[in-house]
Amino acid sequence: MEEKRNYKRRRKRQQRERQIKIACMILVVLAVIGTSLIIKSCTTGKKENTKNTNTVETAANPKKKEDNTKEKENQRQQLLAQANQIAAGYDYDSAVALLQSYDGYENYTELTDAIASYNEQKAACVPINVEEVTHIFYHSLVVDPDRAFANQDSDHQAKGNNQWMTTIDEFNKITQAMYDEGYVLVNLHDIAQETVDENGAVHFSPGTILLPPGKKAYVLSIDDLSYYHCYENYGFASKIVLDENGKPKCEYIQADGTTVVGDYDVVPLLDKFMEEHPDGAYHGARGTIALTGYNGILGYRTDISYQTRPADLYKDKVKWLENHPEFNLDQERSEAKKVADAMKAEGWSFASHTWGHLKVASISLEQLQADTTRWKENVEPLVGNTDVIIFAHGEDLGDWNDYDQNNPKFQYLKSQGYNFFCNVDSREYGVQIRDNYVRQTRRNIDGYRLYQNVIGKENNLSDLFNAADIIDSKRPPVLPLG
Ligand SMILES: [Zn+2]
Repeated sequence: MEEKRNYKRRRKRQQRERQIKIACMILVVLAVIGTSLIIKSCTTGKKENTKNTNTVETAANPKKKEDNTKEKENQRQQLLAQANQIAAGYDYDSAVALLQSYDGYENYTELTDAIASYNEQKAACVPINVEEVTHIFYHSLVVDPDRAFANQDSDHQAKGNNQWMTTIDEFNKITQAMYDEGYVLVNLHDIAQETVDENGAVHFSPGTILLPPGKKAYVLSIDDLSYYHCYENYGFASKIVLDENGKPKCEYIQADGTTVVGDYDVVPLLDKFMEEHPDGAYHGARGTIALTGYNGILGYRTDISYQTRPADLYKDKVKWLENHPEFNLDQERSEAKKVADAMKAEGWSFASHTWGHLKVASISLEQLQADTTRWKENVEPLVGNTDVIIFAHGEDLGDWNDYDQNNPKFQYLKSQGYNFFCNVDSREYGVQIRDNYVRQTRRNIDGYRLYQNVIGKENNLSDLFNAADIIDSKRPPVLPLG
């Protein structure tokens, strides 16, 4: 029963989130119009009271009318700008609905012309082949290559950083290059159409994504966005925080120890890029964030173990607690939840990456069950329900043949509400949309992959960009991990 309710809730939530976004915009428009009318009637009333014997008042009325007209024209311009932004993200129906929410919109040619143009643009769109959608992923970005990559010979973490991480400079170049190539970011959930039957079971079929001819779709995810203790002092951001406008930004501790807030990781950088290039994201899509739980999430130490402090608590957690005697679990959790909510409002969504970064095929079913429970107790209450699991180490439940429906781990993960399964694979794309699950391969866009492509050992990025144009000049040769 619980499972059925989860399915229904999730389905409803996705639809609701989209509707709420548009409804909010319509409400804002109505509120602006309403407020200006109230202000108008107040100021008119005041003037009439003080000047009710003045015959000049009559002469002033036409000016007021003119002002009112000017104000309404401004409102329409604002509305049009908003609708254009939405239509730029290929959501023509919502753009039309927004303009039609303006009272008497039929009487304004700038509105009816825009509606006609949106409908024309929609008619020109073509469905993309969802079975050929590529999926790229990053880890946290390197802000300071000098710190992240120093001592390649002797520092295992620095070597790992060079393999698995992408620098901010590389990320920005890739995002621009893919945009220039016509790549449009789509939501992982958009590749499949989900229906729920009378028993509450979900069924999937290929989704419909309509884009202008020549455009290509891609899905994006970020792994391990926990700002692990092992990243400290290596030139990565330290947590996601909200700025004065409630937007997700990153806290970054510079080499000299001073703290700054800004665009120091994928989340704020991509938000900024897509605000400036709304045609780079389909219906305002953003990425999926794969979270473990053992070091908390998003830079907050939200795991129960920081409070219970079991005898086998990892050394780095013990050290962190020693340095943070003010630690308060409830506060960490409430801040993390606020940040997660703000990220969801920007279009980001969350996935399990297992609590303990475990290899699903190698562990026992009992270990998988215990780990899933930990994720659901420590992470899910902060980020909400998810039906996506992004496998840690890229280790999948089985090979690329359809999942064996009798596989106990598959059955267990399904029973826990997971429907979308993602692994790691360097090929261009791999999508399986089956009746009761969706699976997609993901490509690591990291130092290893970039370097291999630059030196000609691999050629598996050229459909996206030219690796030689992208690779950071501060990146040392990427040697095999030993
Ligand atoms: Zn991972």
